[in-house]
Amino acid sequence: MTMRGLVLLVGVAVFATWPAHGVAQETGYPIELVPPGKGTYTFPPGYETPWEKIRIMVTAKMSPNLFILHGSEALDPAHPDASGGRVMVLFGPDGVLMVDTENRQVAEKTLQAIKTFTNAPIKMVVNTHIHGDHTGANAFFARQGAVIFSQENLRIEMLRPPPRANGQPAPAPDMAGVPIATYSYAASTIGQPAVTFNMNGETVDFIPMMPSHTAGDTIVRFRKANVIYIEDFYRNFGYPFADQANGGSIRGMLEAIDLIQKLADAKTTLVPGHGTLVRKQELLPYRAMLVDIMAKVKTLRAQGKSLKDVLAANLTAPYDKTTLGDTQQSKDRFITEAYDEVSDFPPIVDGKRAMPARP
Ligand SMILES: [Zn+2]
Repeated sequence: MTMRGLVLLVGVAVFATWPAHGVAQETGYPIELVPPGKGTYTFPPGYETPWEKIRIMVTAKMSPNLFILHGSEALDPAHPDASGGRVMVLFGPDGVLMVDTENRQVAEKTLQAIKTFTNAPIKMVVNTHIHGDHTGANAFFARQGAVIFSQENLRIEMLRPPPRANGQPAPAPDMAGVPIATYSYAASTIGQPAVTFNMNGETVDFIPMMPSHTAGDTIVRFRKANVIYIEDFYRNFGYPFADQANGGSIRGMLEAIDLIQKLADAKTTLVPGHGTLVRKQELLPYRAMLVDIMAKVKTLRAQGKSLKDVLAANLTAPYDKTTLGDTQQSKDRFITEAYDEVSDFPPIVDGKRAMPARP
């Protein structure tokens, strides 16, 4: 949690008259219990995540019945600030609605963490995007009775996954974890919910997103709590990641940020999959960085520079100081994405792009 973020969260606490019928006014939500770590983290060569050591805990409360779960810091090299992807849990007499399901290896721990505050049955899961830290425990929670929702593209990505970055075929999916209730993004209805649930005193909107982090993204808005789960097209730990093989793009991430500027008000709490909770204003410097890097990479590529040359140009240097988790791997991935996107970018077919294999 940055100091700036803390000040913003305190700002919500004193805003006691808003919204008129919302739960946010009751006792000053959101309440942050365990902020994500800041690093720097290092892991020895050959390190493997010790899943048995990772705790899944309630790290923030967005309203009396809308909690966030997240994992321990400093153990998972994919997400050292807090293992896995955030899970949101809306609970009450109408049952539990979950946003994402965490990594497969911590499925039971995630369920036990939910049971610390509710015995209500798990009824609904919505997946914000396909990555394993967000969908890994889908099959486990389907067996608890959940109906899984997502964009149709996510379902297709899961059923027929793109090859891995090294060109090797991806493993077959666990069919029990594949979403069965689907909807699609359409530019003509941008920003409108595909599904709305009225349950547990809350109104929840599943809003399909344009291809951005992947081609199957959904953001989830909780109207009364004034919270939007914005998943991974924005991140503030490590450099941006557009999963182009699964249909993502940096240009789509710019569109996603612009849509959030319209959907959110100045007080809306935005919940990224990783890093710290933010307000919409905090997305703007990130947007400016995306525009800047795309322009610089485009110029270099137009001059005939190779990917190796562009990586060597160290274009992210001006941003390293303000980017937590700025590992070499994270910056190289970002610059490689930009390089691939500015010229000969493959189109999306069935939620995926035929990206060039890299060694
Ligand atoms: Zn994630």
